[in-house]
Amino acid sequence: MRVLITGGAGFVGSHLAEVMLARGDEVTVLDDLSTGRFVNLDGIQRSPGFRFVWGDIRDERLLEELVRSHEAVFHLAAAVGVRLVVERPVLTIESNVRGTENLLRFAARYWRRTLIASTSEVYGKSERSAFREDDDCILGATSKRRWAYAASKCVDEFLALAYHEEMRLPVVVARMFNTVGPRQTGRYGMVLPRFVRQALSGEPITVYGDGRQTRCFAHVSDVTRALAGLLECADAEGEVVNVGATEEVSILDLARMVKERTGSASHIVKVPFDEAYAAGFEDIRHRKPDLRKARRLIAYRPKVDLPGIDDSVIAWFRCGTGAS
Ligand code: UDP
Repeated sequence: MRVLITGGAGFVGSHLAEVMLARGDEVTVLDDLSTGRFVNLDGIQRSPGFRFVWGDIRDERLLEELVRSHEAVFHLAAAVGVRLVVERPVLTIESNVRGTENLLRFAARYWRRTLIASTSEVYGKSERSAFREDDDCILGATSKRRWAYAASKCVDEFLALAYHEEMRLPVVVARMFNTVGPRQTGRYGMVLPRFVRQALSGEPITVYGDGRQTRCFAHVSDVTRALAGLLECADAEGEVVNVGATEEVSILDLARMVKERTGSASHIVKVPFDEAYAAGFEDIRHRKPDLRKARRLIAYRPKVDLPGIDDSVIAWFRCGTGAS
């Protein structure tokens, strides 16, 4: 299969490109290298069947040509990370909405199998113990920038589902929960690479808020396997599917775990949310996926547990590549 991966130089995209190449597919990565990094593709740049295209998903002519000349598309290009979203709201909204709009239009024109990457952020402030795909999305006020990201991704999802219903586009929406692993940078706010970098450099490990908020971290190898499976699953067409892991950990316990596994002398310090992000910032207390749908559709079961996840990120930082 000839596969196009938008945002393929990013953390998840570059791992996905490796998975697809290893299966024998031809892979083209489209990336503007705004948050993606060329070094993420180091391991595959010379692989037969691999091609890199530098460009913006808002460039309609380029995107149309690429969609036309590939059989399937993973659309991962997006403004990413809570910090970037808070700092660059125009960029976030524009690239998330316009880019996906363009992509879906061309995918429908050439009838290309498509996976749209979405995020658990769309569940917003939902207080359910495990989020199910048909749960309500409970977002905050439009004056709170965080919600711009969720709202833009909700529009992407609505559009994808509409293209499926009206034009029978074979499209699936994957809602990714906290995904971590080698190559993820802490530059855009993600907690695990930040903690590991802080621990290894002897800086204070910064826990935001009281640290009792919980997350479930999934290893990128599990997540990319799920994305590859969903793209090919006929029963997943027109569906929204959670992808992640279900092992919950509080952020304070995560900090302790990173400190212990790195053997770091760093202190764990608590930083109020207003200081860490912006005044009035709303964090999400608990975020856990209900994975029954992914299990039913593609027999998905995450394999890497939390210690394994921590160790793979620590090892990556230790070998000097995790620069930020
Ligand atoms: N967080 C933290 N210290 C940091 C970065 C993040 O305590 O240096 C917290 C953040 O406030 C959130 C959790 O870790 O409660 C997960 O943050 P991340 O941005 O990785 O993911 P998301 O908030 O999107 O789930």
